Amino acid sequence: MRLLISLILGALTLAGAVRAQTYVLAPDRVFDGLVMHEGWRVRIEAGRIVAAGPTVDESGAQVIRLEGDTLTPGLIDLHSHVFLHPYDETSWNDQVLKESIAERSARAVGHLQATLMAGFTALRDLGTEGAGFADVGMKEALEKGVIKGPQLIVSGPAIVALGSYGPKGFREGVDIPQGAEEASGVAGAEAAARHQIAGGADWVKVYADYRWGPEGEARPTFLEDELARIVEVAHSSGRKVAAHAASDAGVRRAVEAGVSTIEHGDGASLDTFRLMAKKGVALCPTLAATESIARYRGWDGSANTMPETVRDKHEELARALKAGVTICNGSDVGVFSHGRNAWETELLVAYGMTPIAALRAATSIDAKILGKDKEIGHVAPGYVADLAAFEGDPSTDIKSLSKPRFVMRAGEIVRRP
Ligand SMILES: [Zn+2]
Repeated sequence: MRLLISLILGALTLAGAVRAQTYVLAPDRVFDGLVMHEGWRVRIEAGRIVAAGPTVDESGAQVIRLEGDTLTPGLIDLHSHVFLHPYDETSWNDQVLKESIAERSARAVGHLQATLMAGFTALRDLGTEGAGFADVGMKEALEKGVIKGPQLIVSGPAIVALGSYGPKGFREGVDIPQGAEEASGVAGAEAAARHQIAGGADWVKVYADYRWGPEGEARPTFLEDELARIVEVAHSSGRKVAAHAASDAGVRRAVEAGVSTIEHGDGASLDTFRLMAKKGVALCPTLAATESIARYRGWDGSANTMPETVRDKHEELARALKAGVTICNGSDVGVFSHGRNAWETELLVAYGMTPIAALRAATSIDAKILGKDKEIGHVAPGYVADLAAFEGDPSTDIKSLSKPRFVMRAGEIVRRP
């Protein structure tokens, strides 16, 4: 019995040692977060990158050949909802109202696993949509090694203006749980921001507009002083604000209030995008969300039957690029299947960006927006060994990012060819 226990303990120690092993990765090429390098090698020790270049010291290392592959920093998605699953499986309303937080958390575990296996090693999760602060608990479970997944940057329940969000469509007076925390008035907005932070939010997410106009159109929700107070509270605590905005007026109000990223950005004018560029506010266009919702409504994906929402999205990105706005990679995954995050990078290219620009968005640019560009998003000595390798060359064919072959998270191999 004692022998058995010591054998098991020995095996466990060995498993622990594997984590801190020294590796040399030998792909065909390395995208370092900025540019591509043919024939580079990367050495990893104790969870960190210690060398990257045409030749690296191979002594004491396990050499992993990644023939035909491109090694990149682990990819980043700045707009996810790990507590949602595709709306063609279950409507958003039914997920919020009928699925228990236990069920949603159980699903989220699988979502995180699928995300990591797809080569995404960091997610900014922008709202649990009715699951309270379950994202904070999920982040802790990841950090303790209870479950496997990408690094999670969380925003808790998110803040919406009283009466603007959903689920809606019920008789007046029926108390319906909402998909986010409602607030009203400057004092209410301030209290909500503090509540999000107290609960563990890394970023404060606010809905600057929502579909609550007389015709169901997107209209600004919070007033200027309410939004400004939310930003003031967040900044005071050292946190940034992400704003959902899908109308020109909503985007403008959020940008003027001092948010750091605009989510969606539909309908923003060239002038508004110029203001964003001037103030250094980034845009997560969430192209994949628009495309998947159009498909759920019956679009076959072909150009000649393209619905107005998708055509508008093409024009939005063109305006943003023309104005020089920083474009982040943020897909709104959850609206569509977790693990398919790379679809957004394909769409960024289909909508007018170069493959290299899309690669930068999903690595170094997203890392910079997070304020973590000294830790992740680059392949360089000193960086965390969050790495992924994909079949082919994504700088010539971005679809390569949908063919993950190898994934390393903090120096631990989680996927092998
Ligand atoms: Zn979203």
